[in-house]
Amino acid sequence: MAKRRRRTHDYAEEPLEKPTFKPKDDYETDTQSDRANNSAGNILQLHQSHGNQYVMRVLGGKQPADTATLTLKDVFAIHLVPAIGSHGLSTLLRAIRVAPISERESFYNDASNRAKIRDVLPADDAKAVFGALLKDPPYIPGDLSEQYRSLDKSEKATIDDKANKQLEAETDVTGPLDWSKLEDKPFARRWLRIRDTLVEKLIAEKVTAALKEWVIELAASGDKATLAFTLDSLDKSEQLALRSDKTFMEKLRDNLAWNDFADCVQILGRRALTGEELKDHPNVIQQLNEAWDDSLPMMPPATSKDDIESGNHEEGGWIYLNLVTGKLEFKKADKLRIIVRGGTPPEMAIDLSLPPTLDDAVIIANYHIHPNEPGVYAEGPSGDDFATIDSYGIPGLMKDWKKVWVYGSVPMRLKLSGNRTYPMF
Ligand SMILES: [Zn+2]
Repeated sequence: MAKRRRRTHDYAEEPLEKPTFKPKDDYETDTQSDRANNSAGNILQLHQSHGNQYVMRVLGGKQPADTATLTLKDVFAIHLVPAIGSHGLSTLLRAIRVAPISERESFYNDASNRAKIRDVLPADDAKAVFGALLKDPPYIPGDLSEQYRSLDKSEKATIDDKANKQLEAETDVTGPLDWSKLEDKPFARRWLRIRDTLVEKLIAEKVTAALKEWVIELAASGDKATLAFTLDSLDKSEQLALRSDKTFMEKLRDNLAWNDFADCVQILGRRALTGEELKDHPNVIQQLNEAWDDSLPMMPPATSKDDIESGNHEEGGWIYLNLVTGKLEFKKADKLRIIVRGGTPPEMAIDLSLPPTLDDAVIIANYHIHPNEPGVYAEGPSGDDFATIDSYGIPGLMKDWKKVWVYGSVPMRLKLSGNRTYPMF
């Protein structure tokens, strides 16, 4: 369809010296003119109670010969053919007018329908069809248009620009819209509805920005009780907005002692994953699979530390939660810390007792591999594994030839504050 240049300002608030664009009365209730030029449209609207169905009168120069109950899609299939002439077009427009808004919208949203309309109809007719499809209830100015008026000039300009781009993306229409033109009304209404959603979003962002500033001020003031109370009283979406903002989280960290920061992070809804959740986490699965390969499960057991590159041996490491980003991080234990246990053959057990500290993170689990052969060794965590994990205060994950086992008596690291490695240390 033909592209038209669109004005960037608010049609509804056109200055009074240009009364053409702003009817004196409530322009949004002026819907009668939409139908006034088509009495058949009024008749057909009586049948809207049929839901997605409607009664279509096949009009021509003669009296209607028959009636049919068709969906909007059917009408398009029947009538949207080349060389159908203005008679076909008016039938089509009537059909669109009586179809429910939801049906029009879903039809319009199907790009293949729009392409067909463009292919088959001359530009002006296509515009009329698009306009009819986009026709929706009057736009009633409300709180959000008030809010829009109270924005400063540059904010308005930003909103206008975004709304222009969105309308163009949704409708292919560019160029000024004119309230006095029937064909422009659907697009102007849509533009105003788009503007409302953008204003709403901007206000939410402003509220959140003010909240963030206030929280950082509280953190800097040292009034921990008020800070904790404030964070706790936010609703979940606000807490999510705060903890998802890395810059905010870094500022919060920089204004608090580590343990106070960790407590605030927990109040904001960030928590350690449970052992069972970690077991199913794709990054954990990948980490365990790599450790499994590194442990050389297909090789005969290593018999000394010198032998660990050629024989099977335990591998393992630690799983951390980064409190600033909320992401998991991993650290492998050094193979040189493997403990050689006596027996036949000797066992190369990984030592997980001395985890390192990672920036901004706390340990939430450890993991290790038993590269044992089925039938030769018992499946599952060893007695030692059970005994040590409970002294750490986190869950353990262990992978052997059978599966990944989650073990230990705590399901997850309960407090993010406390020792940044094992909480029981
Ligand atoms: Zn073990």
